[in-house]
Amino acid sequence: MHEAVEACRVQKCLNEASEYLMPAGDVCAEHKATLPAKEWILAGSEQSATGYAQPTILVDESLRALNEYVLLEPPDEVTRDGSRQYGPPEDDFYSEYRIPFRVRRRGDEERSFTLVIRPEMMPALAAFFCRQSPGDVPPDV
Ligand SMILES: [Zn+2]
Repeated sequence: MHEAVEACRVQKCLNEASEYLMPAGDVCAEHKATLPAKEWILAGSEQSATGYAQPTILVDESLRALNEYVLLEPPDEVTRDGSRQYGPPEDDFYSEYRIPFRVRRRGDEERSFTLVIRPEMMPALAAFFCRQSPGDVPPDV
């Protein structure tokens, strides 16, 4: 009876885990060579029908599939004006908040996008972020 062959921990990689890379764990020779120069995440084991799966390494496509955007800096500008007309007409279009965010999608390039926030949502949104703020850093209001 021979030993079970451990698979490379990189998600979707079918190669045999013949190498060890700190702190990622058991990987194939190709990933031992390429991972150190890349962004990757070792995701904890998740419970499934068959028990706890081995931790999985997310890189490239798997990382982008998380659809996570890392905020690169707090936004510091907001646009509110009445210079646009919308079709179909929107209520209170003149008071919407347009806030640009600089982000980097995990496994991808930096980009920016503008989040449009309707005025009636702003108090709840502000309260939500204040609740998440670490206790030792009072919000600057
Ligand atoms: Zn691999």
